[in-house]
Amino acid sequence: MPSNKQSVEELRWKKFPVLDDGFVCLVDCMGDDSSVVQAARVSYGAGTKKVSDDRSLIRYLLRHRHTTPFEMAEVKFLVRVPMDCWRQWIRHRTANVNEYSTRYSVAIDSAQTTPTDEWRSQAETNRQGSGDALPTEAGAEFTESERAFQDSARALYQARLDAGVAREQARKDLPLCTYTEAYWKIDLHNLLHFLALRMDAHAQWEIRQYATTIGEQIVEKLFPTVWEAFNDYRRKAAFLTRLDIETIQALQVGAAAASVLPPYSEAFFLEHQHPDWKELNRCRERDECLSKLRRLGMVAGEAE
Ligand SMILES: Cc1cc2nc3c(=O)[nH]c(=O)nc-3n(C[C@H](O)[C@H](O)[C@H](O)COP(=O)(O)OP(=O)(O)OC[C@H]3O[C@@H](n4cnc5c(N)ncnc54)[C@H](O)[C@@H]3O)c2cc1C
Repeated sequence: MPSNKQSVEELRWKKFPVLDDGFVCLVDCMGDDSSVVQAARVSYGAGTKKVSDDRSLIRYLLRHRHTTPFEMAEVKFLVRVPMDCWRQWIRHRTANVNEYSTRYSVAIDSAQTTPTDEWRSQAETNRQGSGDALPTEAGAEFTESERAFQDSARALYQARLDAGVAREQARKDLPLCTYTEAYWKIDLHNLLHFLALRMDAHAQWEIRQYATTIGEQIVEKLFPTVWEAFNDYRRKAAFLTRLDIETIQALQVGAAAASVLPPYSEAFFLEHQHPDWKELNRCRERDECLSKLRRLGMVAGEAE
């Protein structure tokens, strides 16, 4: 049973730093693990208490993708995020948002900067992702030109304001690295959905830092039992499709016939892959299946 629970009062207004000048901060929270249980027991009746304790009930609800009991708890954050990262964040439509207005106020004078050793190469296999770190010598040049560009963009903005241009127009050339701030309120069900997507290795590194901070520094402390179930049944679980299952079955039959034991080689996996994938040169679904089987220790190699 998780026991590292912290109260809202212990966490409220504590700024957890993210990136070079961002943060996430708990403003308010309605409910805790017991709110989920309380809501669910209305549906299942008082008798449930005898057959399942609170932890088992929460775990059952999450395992079986029940949603509304988790919507009974709500969490409100204040976040400071670079605008490009915020652009991804704001796609999550189920939250309530109020953002700092750069029509009303002068834009926050802070832009996200990249240390020399944090420039990433384009991923070779994933068109949306990053690969390895670029050499620091190249990074030093990028960091230097980034600084010059950010300084000049800010100077242009300031010059426009000084000359009397309206804030709503002067801001048009501010770069996306400029920090913005927002209040962000969301129910626990949709927050977990956000965290599942944005803590995942496929999400961009920057937003992953925010999601991980929210998850591990705040949600885990406020909802330890829900957090435990979320990790067991969602974040760290694997979903097998029909095609994955049929591939596993074919591998088992092939392994028995050839008297080989797992972990099988990638060539053995390709030999027994699902017939739907066989003719394809590139197949994302096959790559995903391979990655899952690597995680399970059935195929040799590192999971993506
Ligand atoms: C790794 C990654 C890559 C991405 N790449 C791209 C990209 O290239 N281009 C791009 O445009 N976006 C991209 N996105 C954004 C993505 O497509 C979603 O818009 C975003 O993740 C929000 O997810 P959501 O709609 O499930 O969440 P929310 O908006 O929070 O919604 C939560 C859930 O509520 C329900 N819901 C909400 N609104 C509605 C509605 N109007 N009708 C029906 N059901 C609703 C849905 O079940 C939804 O899953 C990417 C996201 C991730 C995580």
